[in-house]
Amino acid sequence: MNATTEVLIVGAGPTGLMAAAQLLRHGIRPRLIERSGGPSVQTKAVAVQARSLEIFRQMGLEAAALREGQPAEVVNIYADNVSAAQVPLGLIGQALTPYPYLFVLGQDHTERLLGEDLARHGLTVEWNTELLGLEDGPGGAVARLRGPEGREERVQVRYVLGADGARSTIRHALGIPFEGGTYARLFFVADLEVRGKLRPGELNLYLSRDTFQGLFPMRGDHRFRLVGVVPPELAGRAQLEFSELRPYLERSSRGGLRYGEPRWFSVYRVHHRVAARFRQGNVFLLGDAAHVHSPAGGQGMNTGLQDAYNLAWKLALVLKGQADPALLDSYEAERRPLAQRLVETTDRFFTMAVQTHPLAVLARTRVVPWLIPRALRLEAARRLVFKTVSQTGIHYRNSRLSAGDLPASAPVQPGDRFPWLTVDGTDTLALQGGQRFTLLALGAWGRADLTELRELRPELLEVHHLPALALPGMPECALYLLRPDGYVAYASTRLDPAALRAYLGTQLHLRASDARTALSSPHAARALR
Ligand SMILES: Cc1cc2nc3c(=O)[nH]c(=O)nc-3n(C[C@H](O)[C@H](O)[C@H](O)COP(=O)(O)OP(=O)(O)OC[C@H]3O[C@@H](n4cnc5c(N)ncnc54)[C@H](O)[C@@H]3O)c2cc1C
Repeated sequence: MNATTEVLIVGAGPTGLMAAAQLLRHGIRPRLIERSGGPSVQTKAVAVQARSLEIFRQMGLEAAALREGQPAEVVNIYADNVSAAQVPLGLIGQALTPYPYLFVLGQDHTERLLGEDLARHGLTVEWNTELLGLEDGPGGAVARLRGPEGREERVQVRYVLGADGARSTIRHALGIPFEGGTYARLFFVADLEVRGKLRPGELNLYLSRDTFQGLFPMRGDHRFRLVGVVPPELAGRAQLEFSELRPYLERSSRGGLRYGEPRWFSVYRVHHRVAARFRQGNVFLLGDAAHVHSPAGGQGMNTGLQDAYNLAWKLALVLKGQADPALLDSYEAERRPLAQRLVETTDRFFTMAVQTHPLAVLARTRVVPWLIPRALRLEAARRLVFKTVSQTGIHYRNSRLSAGDLPASAPVQPGDRFPWLTVDGTDTLALQGGQRFTLLALGAWGRADLTELRELRPELLEVHHLPALALPGMPECALYLLRPDGYVAYASTRLDPAALRAYLGTQLHLRASDARTALSSPHAARALR
């Protein structure tokens, strides 16, 4: 055995990079290995959703991301070349997040920003380093790696994070089934200039009898990321050129769009699959290794980023000895149902968008364009659409970690992302996302109450009293305990230290406090700095 390490992350795509960045923030230094020789230059995923931008903000990456990308505040829907509906994302989302738009940024940029963040924290990606095999055992796993000079090493690892993409070596090594299927239709992506009947700087969706075309605005004059499906007549070609596709696209837009020469053009098969398990022993699957689906809705990369955000704080608490390993069970319990729902939803959308059956054509070109503007007149429908696409609506209400005694009518329940609200010259996003849990005391709490809360678990809880903040439909006083990833862990309208302490121990699996032990451990000292 050559070496030991606490956490080995396999794969430096967006998911692995985010996992490493989050673990570093929580005081854990992982090894991050990547088979390829350097950062990817492919734009691949272009949609960075609002929830991901909120996380970037907590990481200090927001300004750089916003400088490099392009916000799309409106979605225009055309049916058979006629403008059918407009979805004003900016207007709908402005009270929900600081980022009320779909943000378009190439995956290569996102990966570079995350890579630079790692470098600032002193972590280097180990390029040209491949995981060849993995054996898991009760005390950890043994990973077989091949490094840049072809030298092989065996590494004893406490936990392994498989962020190694859709063809995951780790998933195969553990024999975890990847349940689902592969779409018959081929998908294409192209980065190019498009002119004609569409709005630059906005997301344009063309629905037609043959197919659909999604045009995401990118930085540059009339530059778009174009996505769609290859017509069946061309699907058999071994090497498809964009010039062969162009006449079909022009016909399906009824001459409304003119396409330039693509800078990047790629054709690929789309799968819809979810791993049967996201955790096996000491090994976790994240990102595309755990779930793949159609790119409809721009959710894939964002879901991987959030897998990493969900797991990192839990793993760090366990490795620092502050939580029982049982806490780690909540990763699969929280993330797998979400992935399953996502695959089902994108599957329905994708099937409607590409099928040539007369009923699907009718739905695509007549029913959807008729329905959308009418549905969007309803405030609840508008918010639902925005929250779903932006991933700000993701919640863990059914998680065993979510508890409390709020009335069912309370607008923010345990398991919800705590809403973005401005208060006292700051906002609620700025108060969370650190290494500790955040306890928000809303309304008029007495000095003695606050002292009691502050003394509860000072090494793990950061208490903020917000007397001026009240949530509509809520009693004036409420306590919200937020996890390090911003979701409500526990909520109550009463201060009951015994109940809170019991919750921390039995449901959140936090170990009894021992300030001296915690402070003397190198992890904890780093984490509290
Ligand atoms: C052409 C294309 C267009 C796409 N467009 C969109 C889009 O518009 N919106 C969207 O949300 N998603 C899109 N996606 C999907 C998106 O790119 C993925 O969801 C995202 O890359 C997943 O990130 P990941 O880090 O989980 O996996 P990956 O990005 O696949 O990264 C996995 C990494 O692991 C490395 N690796 C694999 N095996 C090993 C090993 N044994 N040892 C060491 N390293 C290993 C790989 O080299 C790779 O770098 C697109 C994908 C493609 C291919």
